[in-house]
Amino acid sequence: MGESKQTGTLYLVGTPIGNLKDLTIRALETLQSVDLIAAEDTRHTQKLLNHYAIQKPVTSYYEHNKNSKGPWLLEKLSDGVNIALVSDAGMPGISDPGEDLVKACLQKKIPVTVIPGPSAILTALVASGLDCKGFVFAGFFPRQKKEQKIIFSQLKEEKRTIIFYESPYRLQKTLVQIKEAWGERNCCVARELTKVYEEYIRGTLSEVIAYWEQHTPKGEMTLLIEGARNEKDAAVTAVTAEQIVQRYHEFLSKGLTKKEALQETADLLGISKREVYRLVMIK
Ligand code: SAM
Repeated sequence: MGESKQTGTLYLVGTPIGNLKDLTIRALETLQSVDLIAAEDTRHTQKLLNHYAIQKPVTSYYEHNKNSKGPWLLEKLSDGVNIALVSDAGMPGISDPGEDLVKACLQKKIPVTVIPGPSAILTALVASGLDCKGFVFAGFFPRQKKEQKIIFSQLKEEKRTIIFYESPYRLQKTLVQIKEAWGERNCCVARELTKVYEEYIRGTLSEVIAYWEQHTPKGEMTLLIEGARNEKDAAVTAVTAEQIVQRYHEFLSKGLTKKEALQETADLLGISKREVYRLVMIK
């Protein structure tokens, strides 16, 4: 009886979204130890490999060759070759190739394991000042009017923070469209994360739109929009948001603790303490 052949493993390796130092030790060790690296853009990945002096065969795997290259990679994995899949930045499979290969591996019982690394979604979310308890990542903001309409109606009542990837060339138009569709909300544009010009533009949609009227959007952008608010809190507009924060600070200056000031402001203005806290944090 012949021995059953040992298959290889597909490693999904998260890579930096800008700062090359954000490669984890485990990612480094995995890239050093696999037999082959499948990369979205081989030249781009080669820069990362050169930086860490990793010498490995690299092959391309991207949106437009995945149907032909996928089966080839599967065959290699079935033959016992260990493969690391990387994208240009962040986690493979997140608005990047990966998902199809993972599904195909699982069908063939080829082990899939992940070496987590940065992703623009979470990096942007945690510093946005918006609610982090739950969020919806909706991928790239759609370009087609029809798809935009679907997104606008599907997510209009969504209470969790909504995250889109967007190109700098379309950012301003998208912000204006979102404001038209969902009304005034708080938002954040997280730009060039982990890079030299990292920047967070936070405020109401109107404020952020006004900012981009004075500045040219450049670099990589992640757009975060506050979820729909409770009816009680929905009345909080850009102007009243300022007033709420002002009231809170007035209470503080009278000697109240932060907790008491939150409570007093909420009681005085008939809104939730959570909403006062949220506004105080982003203003
Ligand atoms: N797989 C990646 C991840 O896990 O974040 C996302 C890849 S997607 C093709 C690229 C988009 O992610 C960019 O157009 C931008 O919207 C966002 N992005 C990537 N790097 C970023 C950064 N350093 N700062 C802000 N947004 C970034």
